[in-house]
Amino acid sequence: MSPEKTKELLDKYPKLLERISHFEHGDGWFSLLDNLFDKLNHITNIQFVQIKEKFGSLRAYYTFKEYEDARDNENDLLADVIDIVISAAEEQSCTTCEDCGSTDNTTTGATRYWIRTLCQPCREQEYIRLGY
Ligand SMILES: [Zn+2]
Repeated sequence: MSPEKTKELLDKYPKLLERISHFEHGDGWFSLLDNLFDKLNHITNIQFVQIKEKFGSLRAYYTFKEYEDARDNENDLLADVIDIVISAAEEQSCTTCEDCGSTDNTTTGATRYWIRTLCQPCREQEYIRLGY
């Protein structure tokens, strides 16, 4: 994600993203992440550790701040709920263009070696960029 968009999210969710310095995917998933972080922002004892693209979809990994926190039943339940919320965002990324954020006519497929979720115009741009 571009430095400008990255900074916007880091400034908006400083506690949740304290351990994140960059997002390993395109700008198209900005709103999707903004919505995800907005839902989780009130949970004070978790931090994201990595957010990236894998096989054309979003992957967001988090941890509990304190090791002991992760061991009690309340946090087990909380983790289940957080996992559902994150899974929904990851699912949404499978039909959201990673470059522009469009949800029209997106496909998840390989351009040469890399599997990406892109809308038709962005995929054509990708082909041109890669010299097809
Ligand atoms: Zn696009």
